[in-house]
Amino acid sequence: MQIPLLRLQCGVNSYDWGKVGQESAAAKYAATTAAPDFTIESDKPYAELWMGTHPSLPSKDVETQRTLLDMVQDNQALLSTDVSERFGGKLPFLFKVLSIRKALSIQAHPNKKLAEQLHARDPKNYPDDNHKPEMTIAITPFEGMCGFRPLAEITHFLQAVEPLRTLVGNQAASEFEQIVKGNENSEEPAVIRKNKEALRSLFTTLMESSSEKIETACKNLISAADNSPDSFATLAGDVETNPTNPAELAALAKRLNGQFPNDIGLFVFFFLNFVKLQPGEGMFLKADDIHAYISGDVIECMASSDNVVRAGFTPKFKDVDTLTQMLTYSYAPIEEQKIQATDYPYAILNATAYSSASSVMLYDPPIDEFSVIKADLNRTGAKATFDPIDGPSIFICTRGKGKITVSNKTEEVKEGYVFFVGATAECVIENTGSGEGDDDVFTTYKAFCELTPTGEEN
Ligand SMILES: [Zn+2]
Repeated sequence: MQIPLLRLQCGVNSYDWGKVGQESAAAKYAATTAAPDFTIESDKPYAELWMGTHPSLPSKDVETQRTLLDMVQDNQALLSTDVSERFGGKLPFLFKVLSIRKALSIQAHPNKKLAEQLHARDPKNYPDDNHKPEMTIAITPFEGMCGFRPLAEITHFLQAVEPLRTLVGNQAASEFEQIVKGNENSEEPAVIRKNKEALRSLFTTLMESSSEKIETACKNLISAADNSPDSFATLAGDVETNPTNPAELAALAKRLNGQFPNDIGLFVFFFLNFVKLQPGEGMFLKADDIHAYISGDVIECMASSDNVVRAGFTPKFKDVDTLTQMLTYSYAPIEEQKIQATDYPYAILNATAYSSASSVMLYDPPIDEFSVIKADLNRTGAKATFDPIDGPSIFICTRGKGKITVSNKTEEVKEGYVFFVGATAECVIENTGSGEGDDDVFTTYKAFCELTPTGEEN
């Protein structure tokens, strides 16, 4: 029988927002197992490393050069029969590394039903009929926008940022303020519904601004940021915003406008939570959650799909109508969007792993398609043995050196190496670095899918 451990060769995309040359983790990882014709060009942006079976950029088995898609379709047991049947013989998730130099488009991903409608209507811009919940875990410090800010923050900015108020118009701003005033934190379903409706109306007004008005507003906003950074977007004795520091807000506004001059995204910023993630911190985006990434290197896992509805910070196709209609308009502090990792109970650490405070952490979003495990093995000889799971896994190493063993096959692992592990295989990873200390941590991320008995999730 074939041993279900395959080292993968994965492709990297070259979108404009990617980090350039060797700065890009996605490019460096790709280069460790590159196709013969791949070299990192010093002035080229490298955005996304794709690990999976998606036909737009399919991963290949290094040894045979067959695509992973071909291999899992040939041998259902690699996915497990359950997973293969449920997800049509494909890997249910797409695993990525993103290296972000400048803001990505403001976007949301359609739910299953909307994805089917969009794909039927416009297959060029919506290449899949699948939904695309996604999870992001920072590898280096990350900045992004995610979900709508608490209403009190939005109201604050409507009053403290004159160009924003002018852009949406005083009437729309006042109507919004009247509806939400005193109801910002209400938990009454009827009140929340009204608040969301008010937010939808105001946000739609913003998104429908003419390009002349946007240009004027951007100019005025940036001159405010230039002239008085220490009081930018503040009012005396008012609510805490995120970020709280006016100079940081001003610098961020200038950076975004520098990347995308005169773009509506600069004002969308005042509606969305600004989030920073430290390495290892993650967030989960449900279908229809609005978000935009600003900077950093991240691991991303999503349902296998490429559907994005965009509305700002992008030279690509924008679909403002669809975006403003599809959003959930949930508003909440950013802490609620972060995903809390928990100790993964189905991995056994050896004594060296224990004594070096090594860890195996699970990020488990409330969907069937994927979960992610981060393993930090902190010293040479530290080892983690994973119980077999009834589904496929993909591993990537983001730091250090080690080895991976499945059945009686052992492979060397270095930063950037990617492996596919078939269903029901016991898998052991071990740090083989040269000494102690931060430089010697062996870090891997593993995305996997295991279907729980019906009804447990979702
Ligand atoms: Zn996204």
